[in-house]
Amino acid sequence: MNSKKFEVAAYPKMWEGLGMDVARFDKARQMLGEVYDKLFLSQTERPRKMAYFDAMIAEIFGGRIKEILAVKKSAKPVVGTFCVYIPEEIVVAAGGVCIGLCGGSPGSIPDAEKILPRNICPMVKSAYGFKAGRICPYFQVVDFVYGETTCDAKKKTWELLDRLVPTHVMEIPQMKRARDRALWLEEVKDFKAKVEDICGSEISEDNLAGAIRLINRKRLALQRLTKLRANIPAPISGKDALLIEQIAFYDEPERFAAKVNELCDELAERVEAGRGVAGPESPRIMVSGTPMALPNWKIHNLLESAGAVVVNEESCIGTRYFKDVIDENGGSMAEQLANLTDRYMRIDCSCFTPNDERVEQVLREYRQSKAQGILHYSLQFCHTYNIEEIKIREACEREAIPYLSIETDYSAEDTGQLQTRIEAFLEQIGD
Ligand code: SF4
Ligand code: SF4
Repeated sequence: MNSKKFEVAAYPKMWEGLGMDVARFDKARQMLGEVYDKLFLSQTERPRKMAYFDAMIAEIFGGRIKEILAVKKSAKPVVGTFCVYIPEEIVVAAGGVCIGLCGGSPGSIPDAEKILPRNICPMVKSAYGFKAGRICPYFQVVDFVYGETTCDAKKKTWELLDRLVPTHVMEIPQMKRARDRALWLEEVKDFKAKVEDICGSEISEDNLAGAIRLINRKRLALQRLTKLRANIPAPISGKDALLIEQIAFYDEPERFAAKVNELCDELAERVEAGRGVAGPESPRIMVSGTPMALPNWKIHNLLESAGAVVVNEESCIGTRYFKDVIDENGGSMAEQLANLTDRYMRIDCSCFTPNDERVEQVLREYRQSKAQGILHYSLQFCHTYNIEEIKIREACEREAIPYLSIETDYSAEDTGQLQTRIEAFLEQIGD
């Protein structure tokens, strides 16, 4: 990397036009640049093709927003979402843009706490605070947002968020029986009707088929990246892989898939040459649990700073987002929507009961990634993941898998304590 300091580009005029609190946001922009420089650009043995993703972060509040504004100008929908259950294929089929708005920063939490209770999940508070404080260009650019009923904190927050931005809600079933699938199919149809209503035109079978193929390509590229990480030594750091999984929720899907594949070509060459980001003796850790939204790099940074390499994220910003693709053989609209529903019903979020397939999936990914230990990550006050952690822990005990469970938020307050626990965990693996 060159010696020039990394900066996230500033677009104050555009931000002003979006109604943002520019002075405050600009401080956050500068901080993001500094943190990124320290955490990402200081890494050694970084793949060259990470340059695209660095550039994406440099333009995350500028160039990418400009692209989205251009789509908006052409009367196509720009939809914000908070959950991988919202079917982005439908938005893409309408020629629109689907953006993940989950919040991963402590900076917006004080804005949320002026209204929301303190003792709820930081992801919900962070997302709400971005809108309340007018400090996220993505939140300012969306036409409307789609929430869901996966957890109590989210579903009650949508009622308040609706006062700030038009907020619609999809009812996510909490069980996986035939009647739950039927409910979800109806919800998907309603979602499609809403998107069509905004565009003023119907989504055709051809457009939906094209969108399914495109988003499948994106998911397949991420699957390929995950498989390459299973090599020893790992050809890419966990921090960089997590960053790519986070960017998947912002970038234009066609370009993103192509860039991930270009990176994978380079990683395949590295594997062939036996070249990795860390020595073969570095403990290989799989992280499982709640999603880590941009710019939440806390756990990966602690693990990799302590000498480990993260080789898998069993998470919605991770494999839960891309492990399944949609069957592309549906001809009619009814078949396509049925295939789409089937794929989405395979997401094993802890909001489902029972959800034993997630326990199986965690063990499967552990074996596939050739990890040597599992770190379970729960955000504070996320009851479903925190309670499901018990079953994951029991499964790890049965299989004699080194295991550490961490419950934390976005603050730096517990960093020292987490560092000590992580170092002890890694020592245990090294013994
Ligand atoms: S963890 Fe559950 S609620 Fe969160 S994004 Fe994933 S599916 Fe949605
Ligand atoms: S992490 Fe848990 S509490 Fe937070 S939004 Fe997701 S499901 Fe809800």
